[in-house]
Amino acid sequence: MPGPENKNIFPEGLPQFLKEELDRTYSAQECLLISQGYSSCRDSSLRTNRLKDAPEDTAEALGAMGVSFRQPGWYRDAFIFAREDEEKVRGSALFTEGRIYLQNLSSMIPPLMTDFPDGCDVLDMCAAPGGKTTQIVSVTAGKANVTACENDRIRADRLRFNLSRQGCRTVNVLVSDARKLDSFLKFDRIILDAPCSGSGTVLADDPSTQRAFSEKLVLNSSRLQKQLLRKGLSMLKKGGVLIYSTCSILPKENEEVLKEVLPGSGAELIPFPDELREIPSLESTVPEALLVCPGREHEGFFAAAIRKK
Ligand code: SAM
Repeated sequence: MPGPENKNIFPEGLPQFLKEELDRTYSAQECLLISQGYSSCRDSSLRTNRLKDAPEDTAEALGAMGVSFRQPGWYRDAFIFAREDEEKVRGSALFTEGRIYLQNLSSMIPPLMTDFPDGCDVLDMCAAPGGKTTQIVSVTAGKANVTACENDRIRADRLRFNLSRQGCRTVNVLVSDARKLDSFLKFDRIILDAPCSGSGTVLADDPSTQRAFSEKLVLNSSRLQKQLLRKGLSMLKKGGVLIYSTCSILPKENEEVLKEVLPGSGAELIPFPDELREIPSLESTVPEALLVCPGREHEGFFAAAIRKK
């Protein structure tokens, strides 16, 4: 049961507000798992860019470089390898030619939560640096009409660079606050990978992951997330699917956002695909959602699929 007795199990130096929120939310067993996840040395991971290579090509190239890897059962395109090998991978032609994309495993989940019928209109509302945009183009072999929106100019430049390196030539990039997009625009699929506090990505031995963390950040993120979700739902076609995700494990940025915005919106939650059930997860008060436990391979992450009725 959640309760104050769990507090001391979190790594020293973790922001007090974060400890209290986790303690309030999760059972003693889950707090222990989160604490271990924050304390582990996280592995690196990458994804094959199907526009350029097949997963077999990636496996062969990594093998030739002497990089040992493991593949999760839920995604053939994903490869997990030791952090110490990341520099070698970044220096390789695989990376510089855009044949792979370095990305945490959890971040690969949203585009796997729905299908993308050929020719469908897709909006990635908060797109930079392009992990999910490039993955959508990869899984659809470029057969979806993808629009990527990002409000930060510098990050939008990074997005364009990554799109170009990955060979994603057809993506339409909008530099705009997604809340201000014309609601006249309508999409079959929307990815809302919302800005968040990053509470799922914290590492005990990396102060940079904790420095920016504050109660104010969580509350501001929650407000922005609700505004973005309302806007996203207003641009979703009937029968269309929106994937809401954050790299936070705090209810204020996840379950509470859904519980406030969804009632009366004409949209409903749909369960995530069975293949993703093997991912280590925490119990969510939204049973249709996937709440990934931070660990050695995964950052903490939340993802939910929502369909417009
Ligand atoms: N989806 C990206 C990926 O997979 O690479 C990561 C997105 S990151 C979690 C959130 C992004 O949203 C940031 O690049 C941030 O600049 C952008 N952002 C923040 N507020 C926004 C807004 N109002 N409209 C559009 N983008 C926004």
